[in-house]
Amino acid sequence: MIKQKIIKSKNISNEFLNGWITDHCILIEGNSILNIIHESKLPSDYKKNYEVIDLGNSFLLPGLIETHAHFQFSATPDAYKIYFDESDFQKMDRAKENAKTALYSGVTTIRDLGAPNELIFPLKSLIDSEKIDGPEIFPTGTPLTIENGHCWFFGSIANTVPEIYSIIERQLELGATHIKIMASGGYFTPSSNPRISQYSFDTLKKVVDFCNDQDTYLCAHTLSNESTKSCIDAGVHNIIHGRWFDKSLDKSYKFEEEYSNKMSEKGTFVDSTIAKHLLEYESKLKGEKQRKPNPNVINSEPTFEEIINIFRKLDDDNVNIIGALDMGMSQAFFDKCVASAWAHVEWLGFDHWKAIRSITSLNAKALKIDNYKGYLKQGYIADMVSFDNDPTLNIRNLETIPNSIIKAGKVIKVNGQLIT
Ligand SMILES: [Zn+2]
Repeated sequence: MIKQKIIKSKNISNEFLNGWITDHCILIEGNSILNIIHESKLPSDYKKNYEVIDLGNSFLLPGLIETHAHFQFSATPDAYKIYFDESDFQKMDRAKENAKTALYSGVTTIRDLGAPNELIFPLKSLIDSEKIDGPEIFPTGTPLTIENGHCWFFGSIANTVPEIYSIIERQLELGATHIKIMASGGYFTPSSNPRISQYSFDTLKKVVDFCNDQDTYLCAHTLSNESTKSCIDAGVHNIIHGRWFDKSLDKSYKFEEEYSNKMSEKGTFVDSTIAKHLLEYESKLKGEKQRKPNPNVINSEPTFEEIINIFRKLDDDNVNIIGALDMGMSQAFFDKCVASAWAHVEWLGFDHWKAIRSITSLNAKALKIDNYKGYLKQGYIADMVSFDNDPTLNIRNLETIPNSIIKAGKVIKVNGQLIT
């Protein structure tokens, strides 16, 4: 008979993720949390009947949830070139390595926001069947895009609404949990222009409605003023990046403040990816090589200040700003999920618990899985991660190498030791 587990930790995040409960322990049965009780309530013979894992003075949180990853990429400045140089076999090897890195940094759940179908669905199966280590993947597979548009080289090309519908149906059949559309050009793809829309408002509206009918949701990459407004008005569930590039080559952004309130009213989730900027900034300070800018933004890139001020305004209006790194892109390494919390505190002024929620419970909500993931609560999946020092005192105590990791009740790492 498999014993139930008891996880002891001096500090466990409470069920609202806004404070610690002390001297409690978590009872785990199978993959879920059976109960959370005070140590004094343990039966006297618990050591005989339970497998006890004592994490001592550590700070225990729900497993981290990353909402934005691309497993096929290297996270180096030349990620684009490497992708074209590598064989499918090498890409899969890289993806497996990325999955392992993410899990060992405390990420137990991860949303893929665009990957080749022949890579992401087999990768998910390998992890689900415990053949390799990795977080639980919520995949989308190939994103919708246009010819030579953003990420055309692993996307599904679709111009008309019927073409889009049939691709969505195919992706859902393959096991996609959500749909990704490239509503504007992107920075990463030299042949695409971040300043222009790839799809009209009417098309986006139809895609949103179709996704709702199919019981799924839409994530839209959007960098231009026009596409971002269209996405918000169309009711896209999750705006990715949410930037405001002007059409003109010599201007950077044209942010329209009233859209901040609109997002708040609609409950739109916004993925700021500002942690990637933070990591790039820190890498630049070290004198490291950086990615090349897209030809369409080269003369008028926004300043960090411009970007930060927009997200501060969104935060003032209570827009749901979720942690999202864009893993796989330059400097967005697979062990850096916690950098979203760093950036939210250091650049946007979040309080520490709010920043922690932005990489756990709020992200669970964005993924529509908050009824079973994202909290340490009775009945929830037993995903957890612990750190040596209190992250509510210093957000950088959320380290990229956590003390302990448990995924769906399975112990991955205890007190610094990986369990293989
Ligand atoms: Zn991305």
